[in-house]
This record gives sequence, C-alpha cells and structure tokens, in this order.
Amino acid sequence: MVVGTTGSQRADVAVVGGRITAVEPDLAGLAASAGNVIDATGLLVLPGAVDVHTHTRVASDGRPDRFFQDSVAAAFGGTTTFLSFNNPGTGSSPAAERSLLTGVREWRAATEHDSAIDYGLSLAISGRADDALAELPATIDSGIATSKAFMIFDFRLPDAQLSEAMRVMARHGGMLQVHCEDPVLLDAAVAEAVERGDVAPRFHAATRPPHVEAIATARALGFAKTAEAPVHVVHLSSAAALAEVRRAKAAGVRVTAETCPHYLVLTDDRYDDPDPVRCACFVVSPPLRSAADRDALWAGLADGTLDLVASDHVPDRLDTEKAEAGKGVPFDRISNGAPGIETLLAILYSEGVAKGRITLERMVALMATTPASRFGLDSKGAIEVGRDGDLVLFDPAARRTIQATDLHHTSDYTPYESLSVQGAVRDVILRGQGVVRGGTFVGLRGAGRFVARSHVDG
Ligand SMILES: [Zn+2]
Repeated sequence: MVVGTTGSQRADVAVVGGRITAVEPDLAGLAASAGNVIDATGLLVLPGAVDVHTHTRVASDGRPDRFFQDSVAAAFGGTTTFLSFNNPGTGSSPAAERSLLTGVREWRAATEHDSAIDYGLSLAISGRADDALAELPATIDSGIATSKAFMIFDFRLPDAQLSEAMRVMARHGGMLQVHCEDPVLLDAAVAEAVERGDVAPRFHAATRPPHVEAIATARALGFAKTAEAPVHVVHLSSAAALAEVRRAKAAGVRVTAETCPHYLVLTDDRYDDPDPVRCACFVVSPPLRSAADRDALWAGLADGTLDLVASDHVPDRLDTEKAEAGKGVPFDRISNGAPGIETLLAILYSEGVAKGRITLERMVALMATTPASRFGLDSKGAIEVGRDGDLVLFDPAARRTIQATDLHHTSDYTPYESLSVQGAVRDVILRGQGVVRGGTFVGLRGAGRFVARSHVDG
C-alpha cells in the first residue's frame, strides 16, 4: 500500500539508478528482469522520513563513530534524510561560531563520507559571529538554504539582527528558523529562581511558562510579516504559541511551524520525579507542557496550523550531560535536550494514526512531504516518479515496546522508555539501496550524500 499525502493505492514501485521510475498497480513485467524484488504484501510503503531538526554531533577523536551511529539510528527509525545544526556542543569550533562560512567548511569536512543516510546542514547563527548577516547569502549559495536563530541562550541573535536575517534569507531564496522564547521574561525568572535556591531541574520548566514562548513567537512572526519573509517556528510546544501561528497564518504571514514527538506524548508531570537525573532527562526547551497543550498540538497537526514534525534530537546521555543534575549543578547550567532521532515515525504512527488523531496521509505530509518541500529537498519526501527511491516498508500491525536497550542512537536513554507502540519499520531503502532489512543494518558508512539546498519553498 503506497501512501501519499492525498491518498493511498495498492501499487508496485520501480526504482532505477536510485530514482523512482514507476508507481503502478502491476509492474510484474518489469519485476521479471529486475535486479532485486522486495515483496511488500501487507505492508505500508512510506516515503522515507525527512527529519529537519537534529543536533547530531560530528565525529571527534574520543567519539569517532557518533555522527555515523546516529545516522544509523535514524535509518532504523525510518528516516532517510536528516538536517543537522552546528550549534555549540555539536563539535563545532569557536572559529565556526565567529564565521558562518568557516562553520560550513568545517562541518562539511567533518561529516564527509560518514553518514549512512542522506543529510544536510542548517547553520546556527550565533550572536557572537563577526558579521553573520554579510555571510548569509554565500551560505545559501553553498547549499545551506535554512539557518536558525535563537532568541535565548548566550549565543542568541539580538532582535534587530534576527529581523534583518529574515530579510536577507528571503532575498536569496532561503528561510530563517527561529527558536522562540522571550529572553527578558526568561532571564528574570531564572535569576529569581536561582536566588531563591530553587535550582533543581524541575525549575527549568517552572521558569519558562507558555506565555514566554507565545510572546516570543508573536514577535518573531511580527518581524516576518514586516519583512514579508518566510519563517519557520521550530519545536512549538504550547497552545498559546499555536494560537499565535494560527493568527499569523490567517493574516498572510509566510510561516510554517513544527512540533516534536515529545510534546505530543509527554507532559509536565515528568518534572515531579524526585530523582534529579531522571527529571533532567526531560529538560528540553521549551519544556514539556500540560495535557491540554498536548491535545491542542494534535489538533493543530490535524487542522494544518502545524506543518511538520521533527525530532529535535540531542544525543545527551544519562551518564554524562544529565548526570550533572545529580551533582547539584543548577538547572540553568545543565544541558538542554533529549534523544529522538530513532523514534520519530514510531511515535507519529502509533500515537497519531493508530489512535485516530491524524490520518495516514496527513502523517506522510507531516514527516516527509512538507519538510522536504519547505526545506528545499526537491528530490525527497514523496513516492513519485523522478524522486529519489527513499522508501520505508512499515508493518502497521506489529506491536513493540520502546526500550533504550533496543535503540541504536548514541544516547543511553529514551524519553519513551516502556511506551508500547503499534507499527514497526521493517525495511529502509535509500536511493534504491537497502539500509535496514528486517531489523538489521545492511547499509554502508558514507553511503549517505550531502544534499545541497539552494532555495526553499517559501
Ligand atoms: Zn533543537
């Protein structure tokens, strides 16, 4: 059953030279002379997931396999293309933070011949860069059509530059992604909490309530409206921020917005855990929200206010970054993020499609077709003649329980431990070549190609 955004059909799919050449009810004639025939009876044939938000880390002397290994994990989860950021902490150098083009060169060199699936880069535009705005056009020319600005953290981009970055990106066919949380409200709340001695991980969430996100979202969308620029809101987590996106879309702002699996499944009761390290496993920004927020996000995915789902994968570990919380390190100085590169499709199918919250066709739009088109991945995202033969054979009837010990990512935990899910990835195919077959990795290190993106669908 071949699934697209507008419908599903029982069909055969032919891939020649890495590209899809036919999708038709019966290609038995072609199959007789094919080099490889895969029987997908009883399975869904999905386009490979396109995960546009990850913080994978490039190989280092101490961890030479970490980029490759997370690409393998992505493949096991049904992802055939991912985009990474090169923000501080992912292995990029101080020189890369000062110059976007140095960052591009460094990251390209560090990831060459290392990924099992196709991949690309979105830059993190640091407020500490020497002249980021002047470099932006050249980054788009080098195949980096999207980059992200943060409104918070010590590498935030000040508002005036953020607004100007939107204009520059738009003028050159690119698009800015924005992390929307308000620095004034947030910094004040964090300072007060620390002064009171409220430094446990749970205060991470208490200091950044939904209006901190909503106000920043409204401001970023106001900048985009004035600039008439496309903009993408990353990791939207709350009903309040969702309402801002809905309003902006109605007003004609060229905005798309994503949410992440953790906001669709987990809620803020995770911060009640008295164990600081377990609690820190859910320290993500924005934080987990209420059940009402979670339900609003599902409604937003169904009604089109939200355009796509991405993992925001951060390969932090219990025994390393998250362990800091157990040593009394205050919440504002422990690493933000959680792993998710391998569980994107699993969550979206099981919690979304199997539970009747979204249709199968809507899921394909959210995890493949829209992220591909919006981020300039023209050959990805759909099972159509001429596109890359990136396919996932998915068994919708299988049941399994997510456990960290079964996952392949470089983290040592999963936020979804013990979650029972319906559906399982059986085979993953990248440009016609097997990457995962029957639950075994059959791909090659370096088989993944860097995908240059010269423009977005703005
Ligand atoms: Zn992120």
